Amino acid sequence: MSRTTKKRCFPLWIIFILVILVIGLPAVLLYSDIPDLSKYVLDDSKPEPVDEPDNTRAELEEEEPGEDYEREISDPFEDDNQKEVENKITEEGSEDKEELVNDKNDSDHDHESDLKVVSDGDYLLTLVTKETTLKSRYVPSNLQPIPSYMNPSYDMQLREEALWHLKELWDAANEEGVTLSIRSAYRSYATQKRIFENFADQHGEKEANRFSARPGQSEHQLGTTVDFGGSNVDFSAEFGQTDQGRWLAENAHSFGFAMSYPEGKEHITGYVYEPWHYRYIGVDEAVEWKESGLTLKEYLENQPQYFD
Ligand SMILES: [Zn+2]
Repeated sequence: MSRTTKKRCFPLWIIFILVILVIGLPAVLLYSDIPDLSKYVLDDSKPEPVDEPDNTRAELEEEEPGEDYEREISDPFEDDNQKEVENKITEEGSEDKEELVNDKNDSDHDHESDLKVVSDGDYLLTLVTKETTLKSRYVPSNLQPIPSYMNPSYDMQLREEALWHLKELWDAANEEGVTLSIRSAYRSYATQKRIFENFADQHGEKEANRFSARPGQSEHQLGTTVDFGGSNVDFSAEFGQTDQGRWLAENAHSFGFAMSYPEGKEHITGYVYEPWHYRYIGVDEAVEWKESGLTLKEYLENQPQYFD
């Protein structure tokens, strides 16, 4: 009797060990993959991994995750700038990293109550910086759909006046053989909030804020700002050296657009170099800005500003 039991138990032990191996081993492997998986989930809403070709980006767009995510974000890759800042950090080396660590306690977040609240985002010369904030409920007036030929991938919007001048800019570039695309335009407060939180989860708030604006502090919420692309190095510092980047730097102001975050001015603007990010401020104003040689932030600080 007891012999029979032992005989039965022996195969049961083997089965037990096999079950542990079958279930346990994949579990361990899966667990070890979690950091990578989470990275890709986050990256899904953001720029593609470095050197990934454009068509992969398009594939990712189609696989866009949550429903509510799709509802809120018309352009999943809008905030762009992660790749740029990663390059920047690599170039700058460890000194700046130390500075960043030291600055961590000085987070802008602590000073939220000191932020100046912009009265009217529709005012074209409104100062949008890390010291000001647009209201969460502010939505620009006269938002119009950007024609699909400028970017067939997404539905994007821009304020009517800015869009009209963007079309002129587009045609002028085209005539000179420069092919542009629009990678991002209007973004709501809610969209920006989600984007920034994703980046903050990945990089920490302070670091994320070098290349991504906090909600209420993005010029994209104004409905007058676009991220240009069309090269194979979109959303990187190298974009500034492409035909598109050079043409924009030389000509965009003639159509009312100003580059908000020029190279080497992070200590003034608070953001890394973004040769693709342009904001419409009016033709006369943009020409005046260009001639001033100031950053857009400095130029706008010299214009009348209205806060609540
Ligand atoms: Zn931008």
